[in-house]
Amino acid sequence: MGKVLIIGAGGVSNVVVNKCAALPDVFEEIVLASRTKSKCDAIVDGVKKRFNRAVITEQLDADEVQQTVALIKKHKPDLVLNVALPYQDLAIMDACLETGVDYLDTANYEPIDEAKFEYKWQWAYRDKYKNANLMALLGSGFDPGVTNVFCAYAQKHLFDEIHYVDIVDCNGGDHGKAFATNFNPEINIREVTARGRFWESGEWKSTDPLSVKQDFNFPGVGTRKMYLMYHEEMESLAQNIKGLKRIRFWMTFGEEYLTHLRVLQNVGMTGIKPVMYEGHEVIPLQFLKAVLPDPGSLAENYTGKTSIGCVIEGIKDGKNIRKFIYNICDHAETYKEVGSQAVSYTTGVPAMIGAKMMLTGKWKNAGVFNMEEFDPDPFMEDLNKYGLPWQIEDWNHSVI
Ligand code: NDP
Repeated sequence: MGKVLIIGAGGVSNVVVNKCAALPDVFEEIVLASRTKSKCDAIVDGVKKRFNRAVITEQLDADEVQQTVALIKKHKPDLVLNVALPYQDLAIMDACLETGVDYLDTANYEPIDEAKFEYKWQWAYRDKYKNANLMALLGSGFDPGVTNVFCAYAQKHLFDEIHYVDIVDCNGGDHGKAFATNFNPEINIREVTARGRFWESGEWKSTDPLSVKQDFNFPGVGTRKMYLMYHEEMESLAQNIKGLKRIRFWMTFGEEYLTHLRVLQNVGMTGIKPVMYEGHEVIPLQFLKAVLPDPGSLAENYTGKTSIGCVIEGIKDGKNIRKFIYNICDHAETYKEVGSQAVSYTTGVPAMIGAKMMLTGKWKNAGVFNMEEFDPDPFMEDLNKYGLPWQIEDWNHSVI
């Protein structure tokens, strides 16, 4: 049905490439390109063993628009699936515009020197994509991604009006290291150390980083402390869920993780402004990334589960109700299936499904879109089919 160019060869990419390779009817041809070609080749070795499928690999610096343009012209994909870093989003979107190819990513654009997490840069491409009759699908991971689709599903099937959404994200797994991040350390630490923000009564309210917390009983994991944070999907959901009064995002962290993070912050290692070291400019956070474990390397010994979902409260048939829609994913099982831990898996599977929605024409429109703007039903069906089954429960416990 189509040819896909996947950009980036990290933890998430390994899942995407394997999941696409398992569906040859949809992803007839796959090209994998990244900054370090040997990482593409390592992913493709695994794919060859599992599925006996050939995947073309290429070297690419996606910050250079013309390199991506040349690669697109060479391979003529129907879709570019971006699982490099958020810094590359705009450059890849420009290359897609220049060559007339649809675009998908899993994380919103961020300028490298400013941790901002806003859609404004990518939403500014709406008219350009519309006029070129192209589609860009933003944030097709788990959160953002599946959480947006859960909200769209609740809006379509479970509620007449949604008033409150709390997105709750728990990684209840154990990788056995004193300190490591589950996806790209630089992006992860920028996100966690940012001020908390939530949307209420039409405006954004902010909190000191990790200052608001509460216990939550996560299905499949148990009770964990979760912290209020800013997360990008709230920005689009606040606009697209009708009648919404408040939306917040919560993520769990262990004491050990937070203590390490506090020390790293206090000594200046999480900074994103360059410092001079022996005549060279060094960005502390990028140096820290270089000495931390590669998130992909955590997979082999990871035990435990992730448990992520949306607690949604609103009105149905005149009554106030609260539902919890969630997925539980097991680190050891995802490692057995594709050689990745569950955080990469829960991102990579929805990226593949988003691409499948676009290539099969189930989700099709000209412009730049967030996930909740399309019919959630075929996506929800595919989550059950391709490794991320979800459940819905009546939820009697409130989130404070
Ligand atoms: P990794 O750091 O493991 O992988 C990133 C890959 O991108 C690496 O292979 C890297 O190359 C490559 N890359 C970086 N810069 C360039 C460039 N200029 N040109 C070409 N390739 C480049 O990250 P993850 O796999 O953990 O994350 C991938 C994406 O998924 C990120 O954007 C992350 O924010 C997003 N994500 C989204 C989630 C969601 O739920 N929505 C959850 C988790 C992650 P090299 O190997 O040379 O460094």
